[in-house]
Amino acid sequence: LVPDYVLGIAPYQAGKPIEELAREFGLDPAGIVKLASNENPLGMPPSAKQAMMDAAANLARYPDPNGFDLKSVLAKRYDVPQNWITLGNGSNDLLELASLALLSPGTDSVYAQYAFAVYRLATQARGARHIVVPASGYGHDLDAMFAAITPQTRLLFVANPNNPTGTFQPAEEIAAFLERVYKTHGDRVTVVLDEAYTEYLDPELRFDSTQWVRQYSNLIVTRTLSKAYGLAGLRVGYALSQPRLTDLLNRVRQPFNVNTLAQAAAIAALSDADFLRQAYEMNKAGKQTLADAFASLNLEFVPSYGNFVLVRVGDASAVNLALLKRGIIVRPVAGDGLPEWLRVTIGLPKENDLFIQALTQVLAAP
Ligand code: PMP
Repeated sequence: LVPDYVLGIAPYQAGKPIEELAREFGLDPAGIVKLASNENPLGMPPSAKQAMMDAAANLARYPDPNGFDLKSVLAKRYDVPQNWITLGNGSNDLLELASLALLSPGTDSVYAQYAFAVYRLATQARGARHIVVPASGYGHDLDAMFAAITPQTRLLFVANPNNPTGTFQPAEEIAAFLERVYKTHGDRVTVVLDEAYTEYLDPELRFDSTQWVRQYSNLIVTRTLSKAYGLAGLRVGYALSQPRLTDLLNRVRQPFNVNTLAQAAAIAALSDADFLRQAYEMNKAGKQTLADAFASLNLEFVPSYGNFVLVRVGDASAVNLALLKRGIIVRPVAGDGLPEWLRVTIGLPKENDLFIQALTQVLAAP
C-alpha cells in the first residue's frame, strides 16, 4: 500500500543532539562540544533574539502567509520585486518545493555525487529518478552534469559551496554552465543553485547570483539564515527566481511555512552586518586552525569554502565513537559515500582546540 519509492528512502541522518549524547554516555551537556550540523557557534545575533522576543508577544495569530516585511527587506537588498522571492522553512523547504512543483514519477533530477543529501530525498519522495553524476575530485563536474541531462530531466541541483565536501565552483564556471543549460533546454530544465554557505566565501570569490536570476528564467537561487546568520533553530530560508517559477513554488507551499518568530528574527539578522562579519572572520580563522592541525596529524582533508571541513580519518565510525565518548559530536558521512571521512563544523576557538586535542588522543590510542 505504500509506494516503493517511499519505502526506498533512507531517512536523513542529522547531527546528534547534545542532550541525546549526554543521556547515552552520562555526560554533562554543558561540557559537550557539538561540531556536527554546520551551525553558527556564535549563537543567534542578539539583535535577532530581541526581535524574536518582541514578536513573541502575540503568537495567537497566524504568521503573515506572504512574509511581506521580510520580503521587503530581501526585495530591497537584491533589487527585485516581491514576486521574485519565496520564503522557506529553512532552505530545505525550498528544495522540497522545487521538487514538489517540478518532479513526478517518470521525470528525473540530476545532481553530483557527494552533493547535499536532501537532493536525493526530495527526488525520491516524488517518485522521480535521480541521476547522480560522478564527482570530479570531491566537487561537481559541471560538464558531466550537463551531459547527464535526459529528456525527462526537470531539475538539476548545484550546491555551491557544497556540503559535505566544502568544494566550490568559481563564478565563471557556474555562469558558463547556466548559459549552456538554458540555451540547450530552456525552461524545461530548472536549475536550483543552492548557496547555503555563500556568506562564508572570501570577498574576492563572492558574486551576485541575482544577476543570473535576471538572465535565466529557469534558475532558482536558494539561501538560508541557518548558517552565517545563526538562526538554524528558527528555520528560515529564501529563494530568488523569476515570477513564473516563484508562482510554481508558491502553489505547493504551505500557507504559513515560515513562522512569526522566524520572520521577525530574520529581518533583524539580515540587517546585522557586524554579526555577519564576525561570523565570517571567526570561521576563516577556525578553518585555518583545523587545516594546520590536520596537516600536522598527516590527515588528508578537502580545502573548504564553507563553515566545516571534511577530513579523512580512516575508520571513521570508530573515531567518531571515540570522539563521542569524549563529548565531541562531529558528523560521519558514510551515508554520503564517504566512509573514511568525518565532517567537522568550525566552532569557537576553544571548541576547535578541544576537538583537535580529542582527535589527537583518539588517533594516538584508538
Ligand atoms: N543546502 C545545503 C548545501 C546545506 O548544507 C543545508 C544545511 N545542511 C541546507 C541547504 C539546508 O539548510 P536549512 O534548511 O537550515 O536552510
